[in-house]
Amino acid sequence: MRAIIIGAGIAGLAAALRLRQIGWDTLLIERAPQRRGGGYGVSFGGIGYDAAERMGILPALKDKAFVTSELVYHKPGGQRRFSLDRATIAATMGQRSMNILRGDVETVLYGTVRDTVDIRFSTTINAVEQDEHAVHATLSDGTVEHADLLIGADGLHSATRALVFGPEDDYRLDLEHMVAVYMLDKRPAAIAPGTTGTLSQGGRTVAVISVGDGRNVAFFGYRTDRGTPGDDPHKVLPEVYGDMGWVVPEVLAGLATTESVYFDTISQMVLDRWSHGRVVLLGDAAWCVTLFAGYGSALAVGGADLLGTALQNNPGDIRAALTTWEAELRPEVEKKQKLGRRVKGVYAPANPVVLWLSQLPLRLASLDPVRRYMTRRYIKG
Ligand SMILES: Cc1cc2nc3c(=O)[nH]c(=O)nc-3n(C[C@H](O)[C@H](O)[C@H](O)COP(=O)(O)OP(=O)(O)OC[C@H]3O[C@@H](n4cnc5c(N)ncnc54)[C@H](O)[C@@H]3O)c2cc1C
Repeated sequence: MRAIIIGAGIAGLAAALRLRQIGWDTLLIERAPQRRGGGYGVSFGGIGYDAAERMGILPALKDKAFVTSELVYHKPGGQRRFSLDRATIAATMGQRSMNILRGDVETVLYGTVRDTVDIRFSTTINAVEQDEHAVHATLSDGTVEHADLLIGADGLHSATRALVFGPEDDYRLDLEHMVAVYMLDKRPAAIAPGTTGTLSQGGRTVAVISVGDGRNVAFFGYRTDRGTPGDDPHKVLPEVYGDMGWVVPEVLAGLATTESVYFDTISQMVLDRWSHGRVVLLGDAAWCVTLFAGYGSALAVGGADLLGTALQNNPGDIRAALTTWEAELRPEVEKKQKLGRRVKGVYAPANPVVLWLSQLPLRLASLDPVRRYMTRRYIKG
């Protein structure tokens, strides 16, 4: 059996690994000229953690995980408002979860498939046709590839989805926020190594996350109904954040030297079906639960694992496999999409009273008696 996978992000690489494990040949197509590194910190748990264990990559992921020793919430002037210590952060995450750089998840997955999977960089998909026996993909390098299954794992702005399911606008639900992330060449002196500092003010959040090995991520998330994919972060971020104090001027200066900036709308994908004949969508291309749900990488790996199992359990019947897979995964995805939409309402609210209320659970968690209780619960768990 053979699959063509479009996109070598977490979803595509995890699918390549899982399909390899059940004896499929795979061709992985990636638009970028080379593998991306860096990215941003993700919390990786739930079905992704369980799947990673089954797929044999959990130890390698744990080796790259980073621990946040303190999460500090700042006032607009830079003073500390309150903070959570390492044990409290760990208790809120639970035992079977880790913080890891998105690029490091990809590095681990890539390491497991690079010698066994055919990977073509600087290539994309231009056309798809399918019949009873196979799916045929015309690629940008001029070749036409044939396979039993085509997996569109090409992210929020999936070309596979556009070709097979129709225009992105038909499925994109914008959550009225923009997000920007990039690696900082230099950690601001006010952020201690191993910690995260964050400030929310006027509907805007900014954070600096120290992610281990001397690496630091700048994070910006703000409320707007005017953002569009493709906006220029070098122009927009200074306009939106230019009046903020604390370490913000230093972090904005880092825009000039960083290798690449992720800047996009925070949007979900809402599709009635994730497959069409022999074409299936996986990861952000299919559902994109968003960073508000904090579960996209888990669903990408968990979804790839379940897909492999469904294909293995339904030999020779792709449609039955895809139907079983979707029935199993959809409730979890819809639960996380709902969570994402709920969090949108309380994320970086512009009103200071609402902000105070939205931070109340965290403030409580920072109080000594609650902290001691959570630490005990974590250690027991
Ligand atoms: C700021 C931020 C914070 C997040 N935090 C968390 C978190 O805490 N926990 C969590 O679990 N998840 C989190 N997520 C979500 C998570 O990162 C994604 O859901 C996850 O990486 C899965 O992505 P993917 O592989 O489906 O898509 P992507 O990462 O978008 O990968 C798609 C790949 O396809 C390639 N591609 C795109 N178009 C084409 C094309 N036409 N042809 C060929 N290749 C193409 C791209 O270059 C890329 O390599 C966060 C996301 C963001 C943005």
